[in-house]
Amino acid sequence: MIDCQPIVDKTYKKVLAMENSGNVASYIPELAKVDDTKFGVCLTTQTGEVFTAGDATVKFSIQSIAKVLSLSLVLSKIGDDLWKRMDFEPSGTAFNSLVQLESENGIPRNPLINAGAIVVCDIICELFDNPKEALLDYIREVSGIEDLRYSENIAHSEQQTGYRNFALANFIKSFNNIKNTCDQVTDLYFHLCSIEMTCEQLSYTFGFLANRGKQFNTGKTIVTPNQAKRINAIMQTCGFYDEAGEFAYKVGLPGKSGVGGGMVAILPGSYAIAVWSPKLNKQGNSYRGMKFLQYFTDETQDTVF
Ligand code: GLU
Repeated sequence: MIDCQPIVDKTYKKVLAMENSGNVASYIPELAKVDDTKFGVCLTTQTGEVFTAGDATVKFSIQSIAKVLSLSLVLSKIGDDLWKRMDFEPSGTAFNSLVQLESENGIPRNPLINAGAIVVCDIICELFDNPKEALLDYIREVSGIEDLRYSENIAHSEQQTGYRNFALANFIKSFNNIKNTCDQVTDLYFHLCSIEMTCEQLSYTFGFLANRGKQFNTGKTIVTPNQAKRINAIMQTCGFYDEAGEFAYKVGLPGKSGVGGGMVAILPGSYAIAVWSPKLNKQGNSYRGMKFLQYFTDETQDTVF
C-alpha cells in the first residue's frame, strides 16, 4: 500500500486555496446553521490505513448519504423483490421531484432519490415492529459506532418544513406503493436523513462497498458480493442527483452525496473516501467535495492501492 497522505494533503491544499463557491442548504433550517468554512477528508483503505485532512473528525449531517444504508438493509432482507416497488434507473430530475411518479404509477426511478428512499422506508416499516430502532441498530452495526443516535433537532427541523416529502409520500400512497401510514413512513425517512457522522466514520462505514460486501477490519458480511456490486452500480448512475453524469465523468467512481455537503466515493477493491464541505453547487452537491474528488482521482489514476 502506498502512502496516500502526501496526495491527500496536496489535493486538500489545492482546493482550500480556491474560491469556496456555492450555498449551504437552507431549506432545512437546522442545516443553515453549519459553519460553511468546514472542509474535511478521510480515505480508508481495505488494508486498514486511514489518511485524513482538515475537519475529518467533525460530525456533520450525512443526509441522503444514509439512503445507501437503508437500501443495503432492505436489499439484504428482501433481495430482488425490492425491484417490484421501484426501479434502478437514473432520474435526470431533482432529488425531490414528483413529476415522473405520475406517468410511472407511483414507482420511483431509484432508491437514492427521495421518492425511492421513502418507499424503502415503507418497506422497513413493513419488515420491523420497531422500524426506527431497527434502522438505527443496523447503521450502528455497519458503522461500528455503538452510541450513534438520530439527531432529533435535524429530524424535527425537516418535519416542520418537509412539504415536498409529505407530498411525495401521499402521492405514492395514492398509487398504493406505500403500505403504512404516510406519517409513520415520513417520520422514519426524516430520522434516516438526520444521522450525523464524521468523515473518518463515514469512510469506514462505506468500506463494505469497497470490500465485496464485507466490513473493513472485521470482515463481517453486510451484503453479498453481488449486492455490493449492484449498490455500487446504483450509486454510480444515481448517486449525485442530476449531476450523476458529470460526477461519473470527472471522478469515475460510484458514490453518494447529501445536502449537508458530504460525499462518499468507492474504489472497489481499494478504498472508501469521504469529503465534507457544506457549500453546495447548483445541483446540490458539495462544491469543494466535487473538486477534491476530481483532482484526487486524476492524481491517483496511476496509483496501485
Ligand atoms: N433530507 C433531505 C430531503 O429530503 C435529503 C436531501 C439530500 O441530501 O439529498 O430533502
